[in-house]
Amino acid sequence: MTSSTYSASETEDLGGRLAKQLEPGDVVLVSGELGAGKTTLIRGACRALGVTEPVTSPTFTIGQRYAGRVPVSHLDLYRLADLGTEDPALLADYIEPSAIAFVEWPEIGGDEPALDATGRTLTIEIRHAGEDAREVIVRN
Ligand code: ADP
Ligand code: MG
Repeated sequence: MTSSTYSASETEDLGGRLAKQLEPGDVVLVSGELGAGKTTLIRGACRALGVTEPVTSPTFTIGQRYAGRVPVSHLDLYRLADLGTEDPALLADYIEPSAIAFVEWPEIGGDEPALDATGRTLTIEIRHAGEDAREVIVRN
């Protein structure tokens, strides 16, 4: 399914609608270049899942966990390579059966077994389409 959005709030709303189909254990891989709107879409999804904390890209850690109506994990693998010496079980703290997990820069973690979902995997790609327009492609 492909949708077009024309503002950040429209992308948040789309994230909120997508969140309605999610269940614990599901993993949502969100790709797109810097500034595409990955965090914006995830913020909308988190709000719909009952998360009230600020939702921003995890910068100094690989991930954050939020308390929503269900546990929610938010990972950003942009710096995963820098964490090469860390515990390989790192991702498993976030991608586990009780949590819905959102992953920015999933291609960087391509060979991480933890990205093999504990539940279903939803793939979202966000593309710039000029100014504030974005194309959001969702594949289940
Ligand atoms: P990413 O996580 O992909 O790097 P962010 O969500 O952090 O991107 O940032 C997207 C930026 O683009 C924000 O400043 C947001 O306000 C802006 N923006 C403009 N139009 C849109 C849109 N249609 N959807 C999402 N973000 C948009
Ligand atoms: Mg981001």
